[in-house]
Amino acid sequence: MIDAPRHLAVALPDPESVTASLDRGPRRAADLELVLRAWPGLRVGLEQLDGPGYLIILGEDRGEILVRAQDPLPRRRYTVAHELAHWYLATEISHHSSPDLTCERNTTLERWCEHFAAALLLPRQMLAADAAQIDGGNLSRAVPGLARAYRVSRQALRIRLNEVLGGLPDRFGRFV
Ligand SMILES: [Zn+2]
Repeated sequence: MIDAPRHLAVALPDPESVTASLDRGPRRAADLELVLRAWPGLRVGLEQLDGPGYLIILGEDRGEILVRAQDPLPRRRYTVAHELAHWYLATEISHHSSPDLTCERNTTLERWCEHFAAALLLPRQMLAADAAQIDGGNLSRAVPGLARAYRVSRQALRIRLNEVLGGLPDRFGRFV
């Protein structure tokens, strides 16, 4: 458990276990429509936005995630996963539509939501098993292919690989 920000007044659960409990489908690329079926009152819409996206909480079990329409698909998927984390916290953990659950205000929350998004789209065990198939020196070269398989950006994949493996070898096999 992670210490909760004061306004939440509850401890935040481990995002790895929360995302592991969600049905994301058997494929590498998480089926976000399947994940979203757990919350029938939550919709996702595309809009012309300045930022990547945000969550509007309309009621106890109704909400809408707005995603920047002009972003590429991997970025939009990441945004949905991140906003879904805010939704999860608001509806499953804090049980009220706190106006503080916005993206800029609380870095503990933002880190939690980023962790949730990464764990949902790039499950630790699945990614570690993929990485184990690849010779360490070739891992960096495998990034584009893995990013396509998981339908995430290369940057998101690198960050998560770093986290899961505790350091990502560069193309010369050095850990960076
Ligand atoms: Zn956020």
